[in-house]
Amino acid sequence: MRHFRPSASGFAIAVILALLPLVPENVVHADMSEPLETRLVPEVVQSLFPGADGIGAVVGEPPIAPVLAGDETIGYLFSTHETVRPSGFSGASFDIVVGLDIEGFIIGHRILEEHEPMIADSIVSHATIDKFLSRLHGTNVRAMRRLVLRQVDALTGATVSAKAFATGVTNAATVAGYRLGMIDDTSGGLAINRYDFEARGWSDLIADGSVRTLSLTYRDVRDAFAQQLGRSAGPDVVMGPDDEMFITFYVALATPPTIGANLIGPRAYQRMTQNANPRAHYIVIASAGKYDWKPAKHWGIPVVTSVSIVQNGKSMPQQPAYFDPLSRLAARDAPPVSTVARFSLPPRFAFNATEPWTVKLHLNEQEMPGMRPRRVDFDLPYRIPAAYVDGSDYALEEAGFRAPTHVAFGLLRESKLTDWQRTWVEKRWDIIALAGLLAAVSFAVIWQSWLSRSERRRVVVRYGLLTLTLVWLGWLAGGQLTIVSVTNYAWVLVAGLDWSTILHDPLLLILSVYVVVSLVLWGRGVFCGWLCPFGALQEILNKLGAALHVPQIAIPALLNRRLRLAKYGIAAVLVGLAAFSLPHALVAMEVEPFKTVMTAKFDRSWPYVFYACALLFAGLFVERFFCRYLCPLGAVLAVAGKLRLVNVLKRRAECGSPCRLCERRCPIDAIEPNGRINTAECFYCLDCQVLYYDEHACPPLVRDPNRRAQKLTHRQSDLERVPIP
Ligand code: SF4
Ligand code: SF4
Repeated sequence: MRHFRPSASGFAIAVILALLPLVPENVVHADMSEPLETRLVPEVVQSLFPGADGIGAVVGEPPIAPVLAGDETIGYLFSTHETVRPSGFSGASFDIVVGLDIEGFIIGHRILEEHEPMIADSIVSHATIDKFLSRLHGTNVRAMRRLVLRQVDALTGATVSAKAFATGVTNAATVAGYRLGMIDDTSGGLAINRYDFEARGWSDLIADGSVRTLSLTYRDVRDAFAQQLGRSAGPDVVMGPDDEMFITFYVALATPPTIGANLIGPRAYQRMTQNANPRAHYIVIASAGKYDWKPAKHWGIPVVTSVSIVQNGKSMPQQPAYFDPLSRLAARDAPPVSTVARFSLPPRFAFNATEPWTVKLHLNEQEMPGMRPRRVDFDLPYRIPAAYVDGSDYALEEAGFRAPTHVAFGLLRESKLTDWQRTWVEKRWDIIALAGLLAAVSFAVIWQSWLSRSERRRVVVRYGLLTLTLVWLGWLAGGQLTIVSVTNYAWVLVAGLDWSTILHDPLLLILSVYVVVSLVLWGRGVFCGWLCPFGALQEILNKLGAALHVPQIAIPALLNRRLRLAKYGIAAVLVGLAAFSLPHALVAMEVEPFKTVMTAKFDRSWPYVFYACALLFAGLFVERFFCRYLCPLGAVLAVAGKLRLVNVLKRRAECGSPCRLCERRCPIDAIEPNGRINTAECFYCLDCQVLYYDEHACPPLVRDPNRRAQKLTHRQSDLERVPIP
């Protein structure tokens, strides 16, 4: 009679083939290898620029497509893929097309292609990612460096992908901004905001320091003449009552639209700036009072002498070509003024609008025959308020526009942190909690002999930690290590991808490092037995089921050995697929139910939920069914765990022959008939170790009172090294 002999590799392939049709909800079909102009089909262009007729010639490197409406360019389109070659959580590039208007504002984005494992309509949906990225809309490329996108809860599970997308879009927009000449970066990383407009009245402009004032009484002026020129009186023009106002002087940098357009009116501001050099700056000076500092015929004189602008000891002469008298101040509630003028500062003056400067008001003596007129100067210092300056937080702090802020218990200056470092700071409490969990697990493994001497102690510690692993690490913190993490790290190592992508998820990174260390020290069991949330769920459900008298099925030894091989076959297929086709590998990795159970918390389409529930149901009857036979991550860890250096599980000479009690006690059949522990399968549950120390249950101890006495003095230093089968 021919017996059924299950083939492990056949089983593996069958599982993966069964899963393949379930999936591709996360794959957006597009082809990044096509040129940008081919991918920018009319539907994509229209969705970002509804008034567009099409795109113009795509030229340059990185390629940027001008968007046309008739003959007019109304914006630009470019892709993250060509512009910055980003890498997502999967290690693969992604194609997000970004729309930029001609002012440099991001007006929209379209995700054309991505291969992120955690982005799927039933996990973290494209709609959620689009919503997250839409926070970038309306941001000007000149302000990109100031942008910090905080985490949103709905992204849990796809944090790394979402942050990689946001970074890709902002970096691509910055690159495009430089290429299109929109970013003027000549002021030490700072630039004046030339694009935001907010309606403000006069009192608002005074209150926030946009307009600075200087008021002088007749006495102030006469005193200045007396002090600066040694005269007891000034020229005739300053003859007036002591406390009466001589002049009130108003100064503002009118370059930012919020200041300029409010101060002189939107039309005048538009006339002033249109067709002007985009790096020019404008200063508005006004005054109330009798003194008229504005020359009557400004076009007839070479230089405006009654006011001057000084920066860093350098005086910038106001030549007639850049001087423009105005009739009034247009701001709501503006006071009546007698003199108003606007000065343009062309780039050749090298005026740095982000640094302090001073307007000097020169009061001239009346000319006397044979004498050069003398004058006194009054200074009105000015610095643009921080609200009108764009730049990185660090540059703003260095320039004195804002005070540095410190995070991480005051130890780190926030502005010096990179994006991934900021993520670590934001997640500091999770990191501390994870460190605590890892310390507790390490304690349990290192001091397992102490833990195993009391079944009650073992149960409390073990199931307390497993509950933490399941609820906090798995469901709340999103710390489920998956085979995707392994392939991702492999990609980073092999393909030399950007490490910062991995650094964006500190919990997974710390967990991964711990798993590597624990693998080398103790093998697979520490992670699978204590730190895998799905493994914890299976075990907890199985124990609850057993308490409710759910029958436990003992798998025949031969079948058990054959079925175990399936997980190695699955792992090999996945690794092979990942090498040839990452998108298909990501689909096949759905063999792991982790996304469904941990990330989506069963809120997924029914095939996934059915599959996950079927595995958990099987686990009620066969403890850790998925771990034992199907888990590719478990297989990879089992293979890597062969390198382990230390064994903390003790055996006796009688184990296997004649005593086989532990073998029957092991819930996952990890003890071979010869008494050896198969460390590729062992989960460090410590069941067998409780038996080992139980003088009433362990047959060699029951039989031999002397060894009972020895056992009581047994210390950790007595560890036996168990050969690896
Ligand atoms: S075998 Fe897989 S599911 Fe089981 S504990 Fe290990 S990693 Fe988790
Ligand atoms: S009972 Fe089995 S799984 Fe648990 S520690 Fe012992 S050998 Fe490992």
